[in-house]
Amino acid sequence: MALTLISPRIRGFICTTAHPVGCARNVERQVEVARAARGAVPERYRVLVIGASAGYGLAARIAATWLYKAETLGVFFERPGEGTKTGTAGFYNVVAFQRLVRSENLKSINLNGDAFSSAMKEAVIAKIKAEMGQVDAVIYSLAAPRRTDPRTGEVYSATLKPVGAPYTGRTIDLTNETVTEITLPPATEQEIRGTIGVMGGDDLQLWTEALLDADALAEGVTVVPFSYIGPEITHPIYRSGTIGKAKEDLERTTAALNQLLHNRLGGRAYVSINKAVITQASSAIPIVPLYISLLYRIMKERGVHEEPIHQMVRLFREHIGPGQTPTLDEENRIRLDDRELAPDIQAEVRRLWNTITTDNLRTLTDYDGFKRGFRQLFGFEVEGVNYEEEVEVEATLD
Ligand code: NAD
Repeated sequence: MALTLISPRIRGFICTTAHPVGCARNVERQVEVARAARGAVPERYRVLVIGASAGYGLAARIAATWLYKAETLGVFFERPGEGTKTGTAGFYNVVAFQRLVRSENLKSINLNGDAFSSAMKEAVIAKIKAEMGQVDAVIYSLAAPRRTDPRTGEVYSATLKPVGAPYTGRTIDLTNETVTEITLPPATEQEIRGTIGVMGGDDLQLWTEALLDADALAEGVTVVPFSYIGPEITHPIYRSGTIGKAKEDLERTTAALNQLLHNRLGGRAYVSINKAVITQASSAIPIVPLYISLLYRIMKERGVHEEPIHQMVRLFREHIGPGQTPTLDEENRIRLDDRELAPDIQAEVRRLWNTITTDNLRTLTDYDGFKRGFRQLFGFEVEGVNYEEEVEVEATLD
């Protein structure tokens, strides 16, 4: 155990340090939002969250816990701190979550390891059977660059590229803080296949089948993976790109799982289309940080800004929580991106998009907010935290 001063170490869209106190404060802030939205608490609500340590998955776990006093099992892949080397932000997020859950005598179980592996699926099933019986909901919120197929050992790699033709567009060079044009070559067939292998529906299907076979899903279970559509300016790199192909596959798989769960358990599976938010995953996608900087400015100005926790409170309270019937679009998807895609918001995005330059980046967009939001993901620049104080980087999850 050693006390140390921690500062951000950032390269582009990666930060290799994290601040435990700042991460804890971020979790507390989200808990406050969920607690304030609490309604009727059901007798029992048990939720498995796959990808539970950051972004949408963490927010979903917090929402379920503080809206419904849910028992949760969280799966994530994070590194604890060691000596003076900090752990990952996600690890500290879960440590803080666990502390708050315990202080309210609620149940939560954590499993840290590769959710794509068969070993993790077996470990989760064993925990559910031993400590929860079954689960009423499964939230699937993984964002990963690679996946090893547990049946063949093949390693799939995700690529963020357009499909069919090269794409040239504006983006922020996060290292130099300049607005530049990038040209991305079209993905090869192998890259498309790799991205579908990581972010498509195959792993969700393996999870659902394994849980079903083990009788770990309750009658009427709800399974929800996440996807994104976004406006046309991001389509070449997102919806029509490699990641979009993977999401289409995830959406097709979810439709098939909906049938399966309906037939077997009177259950359901829906994709939730969430809005663009600052997370480690979204910061890595070209063009998206610039789009988010502009979107946040417009949505904040119009009083409709949402963070992951607000989206996840809406997901449970309006769509999938106990007793809720989801409102679906014509393709059976839950749409939490309604405010992002509202015509007036997107008209403003389109009006300004081509006029953004390095010189006006900070006035036309909320780039400073994006930058702060990115640092906050790692526990830095969080209000009320004294960064001059040495902190303990080692922490345990029991
Ligand atoms: P994130 O980077 O904030 O979180 C990813 C989570 O996945 C973390 O908890 C991490 O520990 C976990 N994870 C990654 N690899 C893992 C592995 N092998 N085993 C176990 N856990 C693993 O990501 P996010 O942005 O919240 O994305 C979650 C989902 O939401 C994705 O499906 C993404 O496409 C979707 N989504 C994101 C946005 C956005 O703007 N960020 C918008 C709409 C939809």
